[in-house]
Amino acid sequence: MEMSNKEIGDMIRKLRKGELVHCPQCEKGVIVPKKPNEIHFRCNVCDFAINLD
Ligand SMILES: [Zn+2]
Repeated sequence: MEMSNKEIGDMIRKLRKGELVHCPQCEKGVIVPKKPNEIHFRCNVCDFAINLD
């Protein structure tokens, strides 16, 4: 699934604020940091990943 830049921007803003973000790819998982305070986030169900940089 392709995400627009606006959708990606909204997702990054929410992750930075610590809000819960549901995965846009599988729509079942949530996007969580790989490690505490990491900028690399990924879905806890599928292989979707996003970096906050
Ligand atoms: Zn997912």
